[in-house]
Amino acid sequence: MNEPTTLRTISALCQHDLVPREKLGALAEVASRYAVAITPAMADLIDPADPRDPIARQFVPDARELEEKPEERGDPIGDERFSPAEGIVHRYPDRVLLKLVNACAVYCRFCFRREMVGPGRGGLSPKALAAALDYIAGRPQIWEIIFSGGDPLILSARRLKSVVAKIAAIGHVKVIRVHTRVPAVAPERIDAALVRALRAHGKATFVVLHVNHQRELTKKAQAACARLVDAGIPMLAQSVLLRGVNDDVETLGALMRKLVECRIKPYYLHHADLAPGTAHLRTTIAEGQALMRALHGRTSGLCQPSYVLDIPDGYGKSPIGPSYLSEDGAAVEDFNGRRHIYPPR
Ligand code: SF4
Repeated sequence: MNEPTTLRTISALCQHDLVPREKLGALAEVASRYAVAITPAMADLIDPADPRDPIARQFVPDARELEEKPEERGDPIGDERFSPAEGIVHRYPDRVLLKLVNACAVYCRFCFRREMVGPGRGGLSPKALAAALDYIAGRPQIWEIIFSGGDPLILSARRLKSVVAKIAAIGHVKVIRVHTRVPAVAPERIDAALVRALRAHGKATFVVLHVNHQRELTKKAQAACARLVDAGIPMLAQSVLLRGVNDDVETLGALMRKLVECRIKPYYLHHADLAPGTAHLRTTIAEGQALMRALHGRTSGLCQPSYVLDIPDGYGKSPIGPSYLSEDGAAVEDFNGRRHIYPPR
């Protein structure tokens, strides 16, 4: 019997009952604009009979992706402006993104880099990688390197090991952070060789899992994360607040609790970026703040991510509340919404 493979075309999605035949034409247009890939692990989770399935909503193309709003932009977080060398984004003084590859295991319908990622987009050539590492080596203020992309964990263990070894030789870099969806969407990739490849003597490696719904944390995904954590690699999680996926407090709370049970600390809850054709998946900031307030009231501090917005055009990430302190600093609100006076000094 053939091994299940990643679904990459609208007709493949149709054959698996993930899109209806009558939508083939409109969705083929979406697929010609934005990449499509759904791994077997994620395809297995989708209930084709449920029109509100939160996994399908993240990965199955939607005709509304062709509707662009004036406020949306191709490079919503302004990577381009802060890219002094191919593959590098240097926005904050002490850290850089290193975009090793521009492809992913899955393509998220809300992706903030959807204009830049896709199959065949390739990654850094050896020459470009050498130039990127020279840039880092020449700047002693760079303390942390964030592997981003695309998804760095689609690279082979051999390739990752070679990059990590080169970074290990740069004395002022102390932390390697890997942003990935792979432990959840393709858990079989997290094998012993890949785990070993991420570790470097004298450097702290963190893996930050992008996950948006607790159903993505299957038994196999949990085992993949455990392989990383058991090897001494701490894990954090980042999630995107998405309409119809995780925009209610029960779903969001269940995700955060499941993460902590897997020894993964929720780190960021991102307000969805102004990526083209994604308005149907965005919430308002007021809705996000209300959710954070509800989460604060009912779940452990371990389960609280920071709700953040990447300011359009590259001005960086800012926490966007909610705030519990009154504007004059004289009162603070508790988790039940009651106000309490606090002495000014
Ligand atoms: S894994 Fe990340 S970079 Fe890749 S499509 Fe999803 S959001 Fe975009």
